[in-house]
Order: sequence, then structure tokens, then C-alpha cells
Amino acid sequence: MNEEKLLKLFRDTGALQHGHFQLSSGLHSDVYFQSALVLQHPDGAEVIGRALGAVLRSVHPDVVVGPALGGIIVGWEVARALDVRGLFTERKDGEMMLRRGFRLDPGERVIVIEDVVTTGRSTRETVSALNAAGGEVVGVGAIVDRSRTDPAFGVPFRSLLRLPVEAWEPEDCPRCKERVPIDKPGSRPDAVKASSPDPPRA
Ligand SMILES: [Zn+2]
Repeated sequence: MNEEKLLKLFRDTGALQHGHFQLSSGLHSDVYFQSALVLQHPDGAEVIGRALGAVLRSVHPDVVVGPALGGIIVGWEVARALDVRGLFTERKDGEMMLRRGFRLDPGERVIVIEDVVTTGRSTRETVSALNAAGGEVVGVGAIVDRSRTDPAFGVPFRSLLRLPVEAWEPEDCPRCKERVPIDKPGSRPDAVKASSPDPPRA
């Protein structure tokens, strides 16, 4: 799927939004990607899963893992496209882990699928947790890569769309200066300043 078609899908479903947003980091931005709005449509989710599966097929994964919550639906669709198991990790007491009886066989080749990567912090945690659980993480994929610097996963990282986040401290934000009302769409319950450690995502 080419980038133009993908952008149209994101815009048509409202997933790609322009306006004035407070990101989960506490910074302000004028672009926001809400993956749930495209993934709510099974046909859109399937198209995205196939496209991400296609760019990661070459690392020959045995298992796909999508971190909760953002990675669950898209991870599942990638697993379906590649015809492999689809698991998810979640946080317990702040720590990312496999639960619900999910297990990795020793040396199983794992790809981690996210909806959006921004700093990559939570993805790196997931990669470590899965390697510690006996798997071998061999790739990371995301629908949208919003990173501004290399998220340094140590394995191939593929995304369908590069959309480096442009964000400002509230006092430097041009939308604030124009007095545009702000939207706080993030999934984290308590947005904090970017300099503070991120709270758990879900
Ligand atoms: Zn602002």
C-alpha cells in the first residue's frame, strides 16, 4: 500500500488529526495520530496488518507480540497476515510482561508491533521483557513512526508512515499563542512534563 493511499485511509477514518493537542509527554503538537479510529474498521485493520506483515516477513517471525493497549489490534492483524501466533504483553505493577498463560519457546523469533512509536521507551522495555522470557526479538514494526531520533531497538524497525513529532513546550507553542482550544487525547491518565519519567501507558 503506497503512502498516499495510507494517508487517505488515516484521514478518512479521522485517525490523522490536525489541530492543537497535548501529547502524553505533556508537550503540545499540531498533529495527532489516533490509531483506534482507523483500527475500529476491520477492513482498515486488515489492510494495515497485511502491509506491516509484508515489510517484516523477511525477518521470519514465529510470533507477533503487540504491547497493550495500542499494539493489540494491529499486532493481531499482523499475526493473521503472517499466519503466526499473536500474543500481547501488558503491565503489571508497572512492569511489561507476558501474562494469561502466554509463553515463548526458547529461541522463538518474535516481532513487536506497535501502533505508534514516539520515543520508543515502552517498546524497548517490551523487547527486553520478551528476550528475557526466552524469545529472540528479531524486528519491530509500527503503523506510524513519530520518533525524531533513532529509537535504538537493536533490530530492524519498519513503519508504514514516518511522521516525526513536532512538539513544543506549552510556553513555546504557536497554537497556544493563537489561543486555539487544546485537546488532550492521550491514553495515559496523567500527562506529565516531558522531563519526568513516563507513567505506564495503560
Ligand atoms: Zn499549545
